[in-house]
Amino acid sequence: MPAVAFYDTKPYDREFIGAALAAQPEVELRLLEFRLTEESVETARGAQAVCLFVNDRVDRPILTKLKELGVRHVALRCAGFNNVDLPAARELGIAVTRVPAYSPHAVAEHTLALLLTLNRKIHRAYNRVREHNFSLAGLVGFDLHGKTVGIIGTGKIGRITAEIFRGFGTTVLAYDVAPDHDWAARHGITYAPLDTVLTQSDIVSLHTPLTTDTFHLINANTLARMKPGAYLVNTSRGKLVETSALINALKAQHLGGVALDVYEEEEGVFFEDLSGGVLQDDELSRLLTFPNVLITSHQAFLTAEALREISRVTVENLQRGFQGTDFLPGTQLT
Ligand code: NAD
Repeated sequence: MPAVAFYDTKPYDREFIGAALAAQPEVELRLLEFRLTEESVETARGAQAVCLFVNDRVDRPILTKLKELGVRHVALRCAGFNNVDLPAARELGIAVTRVPAYSPHAVAEHTLALLLTLNRKIHRAYNRVREHNFSLAGLVGFDLHGKTVGIIGTGKIGRITAEIFRGFGTTVLAYDVAPDHDWAARHGITYAPLDTVLTQSDIVSLHTPLTTDTFHLINANTLARMKPGAYLVNTSRGKLVETSALINALKAQHLGGVALDVYEEEEGVFFEDLSGGVLQDDELSRLLTFPNVLITSHQAFLTAEALREISRVTVENLQRGFQGTDFLPGTQLT
């Protein structure tokens, strides 16, 4: 019976993908609650496929070990694949698939949710009102209408985010290495060089994948180019932002606010309940002290629609992998 080792599973994974796989009696499903790491890789022994998420480690040593253990297919249940050494997987003959677009709306809408919450201080108001503190002091926000928003990366998620921002009556400037001028013209959006987007925008929102070119795209130099009082939103990948530089910019009160759904060193922290212990990450701890920083732990994708689509594509690809037939079009990376 073909087996799949399913790492870093959470209750919502069990509800969607887990249930879909459990309905296939011909597949042995190993639901593992820990991440795939050098220490845990042995648990893949005998499985033909592993099902992984954003913070599982899939570097060359782990792929080599997976190959030795009999794994032939790495099925990522996410869109980003920066955690996978694709050349190594190719050399080892391990197929890697992903879910390229499960719900770009989920991530775009969460981007807006974060920005609106941070700007209008909903998180603080919620706590106050529950304590019967009905004062408005310190809760002043700004109108989005009339502001300039910079969208960096106009792929599936960046475009939807830009279109939603247009609905608020903002001017949208965009930067992408592969601009789509027709789309921009249809939505009244203007492409501009990165520096122009940074210097002119009241809000900058990041939507590029993590690559060697985008690593620390937001650093001390680019932060200095941002308007004083500007807001930065990152729902893409943590390593797009150099955290130490971000902390310095916040301490200098150069930025008006920062909303993050992803964090440079989120691996092993995000998705976990660490509430009973001592947080060991000093930079994350510092970020959490700023009143104008709002952090969610990589939940932008977390809608029922997105989970259903992730489940559909992942389960179909796992079956195709077991049967040796072609994977769903557009999902195979190696
Ligand atoms: P996409 O591939 O459709 O779009 C990415 C865009 O970035 C493309 O238009 C590309 O040309 C552009 N780009 C690439 N390199 C660039 C560079 N150096 N400078 C400027 N632009 C560049 O991807 P998508 O579906 O829109 O997803 C974007 C990212 O969002 C993913 O890579 C992933 O990291 C992240 N994401 C986060 C979550 C979450 O839950 N927080 C969920 C899904 C995706």
